[in-house]
Amino acid sequence: MNPTAFDPKAAESFAHRLLAWHREQGRHHLPWQREPTLYRVWISEIMLQQTRVATVIPYYERFMATFPDLAALAAADEEQVLRLWSGLGYYARARNLHRAARIILQHHDGRFPEQFEQVAALPGVGRSTAGAILSLALGQRHPILDGNVKRVLARHFAVAGWPGHSAVARQLWALSEQLTPQRQVAAYNQAMMDLGATLCTRTSPNCNRCPLRQSCLARVRDEVARYPEPRPKRELPRKEVQMLLLQDPERRVLLEKRPPTGIWGGLWSLPELPPDARAEDWCLRQLGLRTSLVGKLRPRAHAFTHFQLRILPRLLRVENPAPGVLDGGRWVWYNPGQPQDRGLAAPVLALLREIQPQE
Ligand code: SF4
Repeated sequence: MNPTAFDPKAAESFAHRLLAWHREQGRHHLPWQREPTLYRVWISEIMLQQTRVATVIPYYERFMATFPDLAALAAADEEQVLRLWSGLGYYARARNLHRAARIILQHHDGRFPEQFEQVAALPGVGRSTAGAILSLALGQRHPILDGNVKRVLARHFAVAGWPGHSAVARQLWALSEQLTPQRQVAAYNQAMMDLGATLCTRTSPNCNRCPLRQSCLARVRDEVARYPEPRPKRELPRKEVQMLLLQDPERRVLLEKRPPTGIWGGLWSLPELPPDARAEDWCLRQLGLRTSLVGKLRPRAHAFTHFQLRILPRLLRVENPAPGVLDGGRWVWYNPGQPQDRGLAAPVLALLREIQPQE
């Protein structure tokens, strides 16, 4: 379909049906919808990138209780922010939030900017997120194109191709721009996101209850499953590592702080070594610890966007737990029975739980 040939009356009808549905069926009681300030909407929109509402809600509530405003977030150290993000994944989002809060403090006198270009320039905020923040918090008219909106538009207008390709994305942006009404933009954008999250879902769309069913090309042609087209297949590289659970006689486990950038940047993780290295030799050489292998735990896979990680967990007992050489900034003995406030990567958290004795 050629978006330049779009009929304004059809756009009006699209928005009208969507808004009517949203008044009746949309989500109106999410925590960030109470008192939707720029700060609160910003935090929610970043958390909602790649994460479902039900997962986000408890994280959002904890985050707001700890950092009720921008000044509190900017004053925190990164470790504290990562800690609250522990388990939510995509940790660059947390680091970007923190950086952005400091930028706002320095360059915008601590007031969240209200101009689109300034918001879109913040770390971790692109065109769609900036549009969502300003429309939901201030009612400014900006189109959005998050994953939910892409799916609704690709289906409704039978847009062929993978939305990650720039030509397809341009087409979807043009549609979003033309459909966004002049008024009630906050309700309209929220409605689009809600429709994608609740009815026009990825695997089981409920077309019978959809307010757009009569004009939806994918439904009319009975081709809903065809849109949006998936990313063209490519084999992700695979990487394998051993992760060591080094346990001292008090059952504390040695954690290592990851470098600030890269995978799990700034989080606490387990020591890693190549899959074929002998763990006991490595511990003695690298850490000065005498250890003995207790057992091998079930391997597990963890998918990153650009590679697949296969984790081979090894449980070792430390024989000489006087690690004077271990630097406290990089290494810490962690008691999984009395979890402390530390940002942990999700697979590490799962492994620590697995070795906990059952009550
Ligand atoms: S009719 Fe079905 S495919 Fe079309 S927008 Fe509605 S839920 Fe999605």
